[in-house]
Amino acid sequence: MTTPRITLNDNTSIPQFGLGVWQVDPGETERVVSEAFEVGYRHIDTAQMYGNEEGVGAAIKASGLGRDELYITTKLNNNRHEKAAAKASLRESLDKLGLEKVDLFLIHWPLPTQYDGDYVGTWETLVELQSEGLTTSIGVSNFQPEHLDAVIKATGVVPAVNQIEAHPYFTNDVARGNTLRAGSVVEAWSPLGQGGGELEDPAVLALAERYGKSPAQVLLRWAIDRGDIVFPKSTRKERLVENLDIFDFSLTSDDVASLVALDKGEAGRQGPNPDTFDWIPD
Ligand code: NDP
Repeated sequence: MTTPRITLNDNTSIPQFGLGVWQVDPGETERVVSEAFEVGYRHIDTAQMYGNEEGVGAAIKASGLGRDELYITTKLNNNRHEKAAAKASLRESLDKLGLEKVDLFLIHWPLPTQYDGDYVGTWETLVELQSEGLTTSIGVSNFQPEHLDAVIKATGVVPAVNQIEAHPYFTNDVARGNTLRAGSVVEAWSPLGQGGGELEDPAVLALAERYGKSPAQVLLRWAIDRGDIVFPKSTRKERLVENLDIFDFSLTSDDVASLVALDKGEAGRQGPNPDTFDWIPD
C-alpha cells in the first residue's frame, strides 16, 4: 500500500505518514528505523534534541534505499537559535545522518521568552540554510498564530509546515486553522495522544469496532482524513506494521466530527504550551 503524498507550498511533496523517533533510545534507534524501513516506512521525523540522529543515519546507510526514496526531517535544538549556532547545528545533523541535505528542517520551538523573542531572526537563518542547499524545505514547529503570522509578515516566506500537537483530546484548532489559512500544512504530533486515554475512549472504540480496525488505526486515520501529516512513534515491529495499515479505509465526515467533539481544550494538551515553554538544554 503506497503512502499518499502532500504537496507543500514550495512545490515539493512529503509522505503523509512516517515514523517519529522522539523518546526512541539512541541505542535502539538503528534497529527501530531499520524495521520501519523493512515494513515500508519512508519518512522519518527526528530532531537534534532527540539525540538519535546517528541511529537514524546508520539505518539509512544500512537500508540500501536511494536518497530520493526517503524523506528525512530534523529540527533545530532550543540551544542553537543564534545564526552561527543554527547554521553549525544543521551541518552537524547532516554529518550524523550521513546526508548532504535533509528534506525538511524545522525550528523546534519558538521560545518567545528567550533570545529576546527573536524567532523571526531564527526563521531568517532557516531561509538562508535553504538557499545554501542544506535543506530542501523549511518549516516551524509549535508556532502559535502570533508566531506564524510574525515570521510570514517579516520575510514573506511561508513555512512549508507547522508541526503542532493535535489529537482528539487536544484538537488545537486555533493554531491548526491559522496554519492552514497561512498556506502551511499541519504535521500533527502525538497523534496517539502519547498512548494515553484516547486509545480507550468509547467513541474511538466504537469506530474501531465498526471498521474492524484498532483504536490506534482509527486515531491515525482521523488525522489523515483531516489532511494532516502524522508520524506515530513505536519501538515495536508489530505496532509499526499496525500503524502503517491505515490506507484501506477512511472515516466519514460525521465520524471525523464525532472525534473532534472529544476535544478537552487546554486540559487535553500533553506537551508544554509554546507561549511559555522556555527550556534550553545545557
Ligand atoms: P504518539 O502519539 O505517537 O504515541 C506514542 C506512544 O504510543 C508510545 O508510548 C507507543 O508505545 C504507543 N503506541 C504506538 N503505537 C501504538 C499502537 N498501535 N497501539 C497502542 N499504543 C501504541 O506520541 P509521540 O509523542 O511520540 O508523537 C509522535 C511523534 O511526533 C514523535 O515521535 C515526534 O517525532 C513528534 N513529536 C514532535 C514534537 C514537537 O515538539 N515538534 C513533540 C512530540 C512529538 P511503544 O513505543 O511501546 O509502541
